[in-house]
Amino acid sequence: MGIIDGKMVASQIKGNIADEIKILEQKTGKIPGLAVVLVGDDPASAVYIRNKNKTCKKLGFQSFENILPENTSELTLLNLIDTLNNNDRVNGILVQLPLPSHISSNKILEAIDPKKDVDGFHLENVGRLVTGNATFKPCTPAGIIQLLDHYEVNIDGKNAVVLGRSNIVGKPIFFLLMERNATVTICHSHTKNLSTITQSADILIAAIGKPNFVTKDMVKNGAVVIDVGINRVGDKLVGDVDFQPVLNKVNLITPVPGGVGPMTIAMLMLNTLQAFKNFISLKI
Ligand code: NDP
Repeated sequence: MGIIDGKMVASQIKGNIADEIKILEQKTGKIPGLAVVLVGDDPASAVYIRNKNKTCKKLGFQSFENILPENTSELTLLNLIDTLNNNDRVNGILVQLPLPSHISSNKILEAIDPKKDVDGFHLENVGRLVTGNATFKPCTPAGIIQLLDHYEVNIDGKNAVVLGRSNIVGKPIFFLLMERNATVTICHSHTKNLSTITQSADILIAAIGKPNFVTKDMVKNGAVVIDVGINRVGDKLVGDVDFQPVLNKVNLITPVPGGVGPMTIAMLMLNTLQAFKNFISLKI
């Protein structure tokens, strides 16, 4: 029984990124740049964007912040994406989702240059992921795999169960686990006998957005539990897993906060560094 320290693992990864940026800057005179785009004034999104900017600065990235009003038109946003696509100092573009309902998220995500799509949401990058040739793995699923590797969790041949089938977490983690030879079951709101399925999981990943949904009786003894959920209950953040009772039954579990969350930002920075390295190798 142990708690996975996502903050510590993320901090190690970020330290390595900062060191690599210094070396690359000495060699090329350039630093990687990340553009973040936020439309509207959703307070949670504003916090995410602020944290991303702070991390960028700390690690030595150049940060390009684009905060647009809620009533921004789709065309204006497409024009901004085009400008960022053509700016050589911008290596990664992140559009904070959800976008206001009058803007098509699909259209915007498809407008991002796949070489700068550090979230890995462009169809070209999704296709690469599905065929096992990912350039940019979506950040949260990539962070989960790094955590499992850091804690030397054997994935090969294990039964992995994923709760949730979103495009940003459930589906991509399904493919990443399958690529690592797990037998993967994906569950959603129409799944019958959910508890029977979760009890078979050596690795259980919860990404549904329902506070304390996964209870002790749903989890196998000695399992590894990854809690992706972030739910606000009163003034506290809790995950999708009923943490304390489940902790006593499992081998490893991620806390909320301090588990998967910090890894997501670290993976965004790693993808942006990769985009930068791809760009400078094209120029050399
Ligand atoms: P979505 O709302 O897009 O998807 C939720 C998924 O959960 C859907 O597939 C839904 O099924 C499924 N679901 C809902 N209720 C049940 C249920 N009772 N039983 C089984 N499945 C159910 O969520 P996201 O994937 O975007 O996010 C999930 C959670 O993870 C949220 O709390 C979010 O805040 C958090 N998150 C955390 C990140 C991090 O960095 N730590 C990053 C991204 C997300 P159906 O498809 O049938 O509707």
